[in-house]
Amino acid sequence: MKDKLSKGKIVKIKEVKVGGNKPIIIAGPCSIESREHIVDEALSLKEIGVDILRGGAFKPRTSPFDFQGLGFEAVKYLKEASEKSNLPIVTEVLSEEHVEKMKDYVDAFQIGSRNMYNYALLKKVGKTMKPIILKRGFSATLREWEMAAKYIEAEGNENIIFCERGIRTFETELRNTLDLAGAYLLKEKTGYPVIVDPSHGTGKRELIFPMVKAALALGLDAVMIEVHPNPDEAMSDAAQTIDYKTYEKIAKYVGEFNENR
Ligand code: PEP
Ligand code: MN
Repeated sequence: MKDKLSKGKIVKIKEVKVGGNKPIIIAGPCSIESREHIVDEALSLKEIGVDILRGGAFKPRTSPFDFQGLGFEAVKYLKEASEKSNLPIVTEVLSEEHVEKMKDYVDAFQIGSRNMYNYALLKKVGKTMKPIILKRGFSATLREWEMAAKYIEAEGNENIIFCERGIRTFETELRNTLDLAGAYLLKEKTGYPVIVDPSHGTGKRELIFPMVKAALALGLDAVMIEVHPNPDEAMSDAAQTIDYKTYEKIAKYVGEFNENR
């Protein structure tokens, strides 16, 4: 099984390789809250150690009364953070009409869980030929998730990265149930990189580190983690967001994991 996984496809986000048996870290805030916030966070994470910077500009919130993100302004701030830190960037695109405008700013598009079934959006991002991080719909079967990726592939774009972010089950103590077995199976089946988001996958900051260890042990290709300088004050997803000190421990663990192989 391990051998098969190590022969998987590699997708490049700028110069960073996702896949190929060397797990990487994607980290950043759930939402970009201001220009200073994302620029400072980019520089801090860069110093600690990170491969790709994430940050939400258009936020798909369950309630329309919750913070919806700063929109395109935040995409510009993210780009500035990328230039200052020299980190590649990824952010979620919520709507077809934003794809053209965003594509010159971001290094990869994220398709959120709620949009996994939005086939028009999948076709549109597919056409850009950019790397696409395709999050699993929170009620999607593995087959539905795989078929969603086929919409991107059908446009000639094979720069696909699957992201397991937890699914809805009968369990209520956790925000979602992180389906690591499903993630492993999909990687084995498709050969595409499969990454894990333990932040949305659990909803609990104390579970992030253990789930990172599990993802690495399975040979999955990256972890995507929500980090904030002051997590309790984060404008979205505070309960699952970790601080820089905790992040540093995780980054060190991933670094040592890669060194020791
Ligand atoms: C996110 O990563 O910012 C996000 C909204 O995640 P999901 O689509 O998995 O809920
Ligand atoms: Mn979030």
